[in-house]
Amino acid sequence: MAQLYFYYSSMNAGKSTTLLQSAYNYRERGMKTKIYTAALDDRFGLGKVTSRLGISSDAELFTPDTDLYQQIDDLPQINSTQKKIDCLLIDEAQFLTKVQVKQLTNIVDKLNIPVLTYGIRTDFQGEPFVGSQYLLAWADKLIELKTVCHCGHKANFVVRFDKHGNAVKQGAQVDVGGNEKYESMCRVHFSSLVWN
Ligand SMILES: [Zn+2]
Repeated sequence: MAQLYFYYSSMNAGKSTTLLQSAYNYRERGMKTKIYTAALDDRFGLGKVTSRLGISSDAELFTPDTDLYQQIDDLPQINSTQKKIDCLLIDEAQFLTKVQVKQLTNIVDKLNIPVLTYGIRTDFQGEPFVGSQYLLAWADKLIELKTVCHCGHKANFVVRFDKHGNAVKQGAQVDVGGNEKYESMCRVHFSSLVWN
């Protein structure tokens, strides 16, 4: 049976690197994969998943309106196993809608295709992203990718800094094209900057 996996973390924990490694492992064995990443603005075009280590891969883009189940089900069958693809990989999975996470469960359960999703658990205010909320609730396997705070403890949280270097406490969940910087921190240091 195929399963739905959710690899979650704060930022800069190597999510994209892990995704690209998994896609490579499938392709190396002659298996077919499809990669999606979030379209964060209205432009359509070719997406890309890029690792900070310098490797990248082309990707399809999803918006909140993309019917992921339909797109996979519409693909031609590839082999005698009657599968459309051998594995579906989704980067920036925190931006999926609740409906899209449900579509992923159907890709797993009805099409028998493993789905590997990668996303950030909480936003700069410590609130859960919708996509991550439902993946944490519905995925078969939850895998935490760990990174560290400047103090050396595990960093579960993401702090957004404005261009003056001040921690941002309020604002839109997604900031496209801004001058903000993000840093992963432990809860103690996140809390002292954002929840104080
Ligand atoms: Zn810390």
